[in-house]
Amino acid sequence: MEKKRLCGQNLKEMEDWIARLGEPRYRAHQIYQWIYQRGANDFAQMTDLPKRLRALLQETAQVGLPTVIKQQLDPEDLTVKLLLELKDKQRVEAVLMPYSNLDFSRNRLTGCISSQVGCPIGCPFCATGQGGFIRNLEAGEIVGQVIALRQEALKSENTLIESLNIVFMGMGEPLLNYAEVLKSIYLLHDPKGLNISLRRITLSTAGVVPRIYQLAQEELPINLAVSLHAPNNDLRNQLVPLNRRYPLEELIPACRKYFESSKRRVTFEYILLNQVNDTEDLAEELALRLKGLPALVNLIPANPTNGADQRPSPERIRSFTRILKTRGLEVTLREGRGGNIAAACGQLRARDSSLRSE
Ligand code: SF4
Repeated sequence: MEKKRLCGQNLKEMEDWIARLGEPRYRAHQIYQWIYQRGANDFAQMTDLPKRLRALLQETAQVGLPTVIKQQLDPEDLTVKLLLELKDKQRVEAVLMPYSNLDFSRNRLTGCISSQVGCPIGCPFCATGQGGFIRNLEAGEIVGQVIALRQEALKSENTLIESLNIVFMGMGEPLLNYAEVLKSIYLLHDPKGLNISLRRITLSTAGVVPRIYQLAQEELPINLAVSLHAPNNDLRNQLVPLNRRYPLEELIPACRKYFESSKRRVTFEYILLNQVNDTEDLAEELALRLKGLPALVNLIPANPTNGADQRPSPERIRSFTRILKTRGLEVTLREGRGGNIAAACGQLRARDSSLRSE
């Protein structure tokens, strides 16, 4: 019989399960805290449980955290990448960045996590998209990435773990794995567990419009980031193929609705590709497209994983940025670090591949 996997269970599920074993419910609280707060992956570590119970747990259950099989430190920007192996030997990457993935302000620790193995969206500039879709992650596999990142962060003396932000910006389209992603968000937030503020959680989507409306109804104050990359349908159909299904006339109103429900400004990710989507005319069109929407535009000059000649010149980047700002948009530029970090959803995979090939 397959052992019960505990990482991914919420407190109520764990209580019900421990009660079925004939144990008092408060034992579930202890196990819950050992897993989510202290990252214990072995019942032997849970020293405040009676030996008898620990032996019973060993026989019937497993914690089931993903296994860290490789970690890599980028000496330049101090990013730590973890390659994690799941129960079926599939692998995902999670990244810890000593700054915000959205605005690079220091003193903000950011964990970038994956929601799927592979991705079905197929954006042409993204290695994950090119590799196709394998499967959805379970909530426990998503939370397991955060537990691993948290353990990694705690190794450093100066870490302010309370400042940890989580971005669903790794492999996969989180809104195509809605139920498990939502469950993972509740688990991440639970004050009895990881206790991460909802305001510190960002979900990045290519624009699955019906799920954006559904998320708006949840009335969770999490941040929404949209991989926009183009201001018109012709170009966006090429860069984000999901646009053929949910064009901009549907996507932008969904973002407006999300802002109205969550009161959280929407971030639009825009990867700048030389001579593709970085012209002055397109900057004007983008400003018009987002007019009146409380938004932050996050410009990401293409990095070497997108192809050496894809990065626009500094003049083109400056000019694009200037036009948006002149038109009243708030703009951040992820400048100078693009080669080393997870620059957009799915860009982790390029490095994941390099890790795998060793
Ligand atoms: S950029 Fe994001 S949505 Fe597009 S293929 Fe890559 S992971 Fe999927």
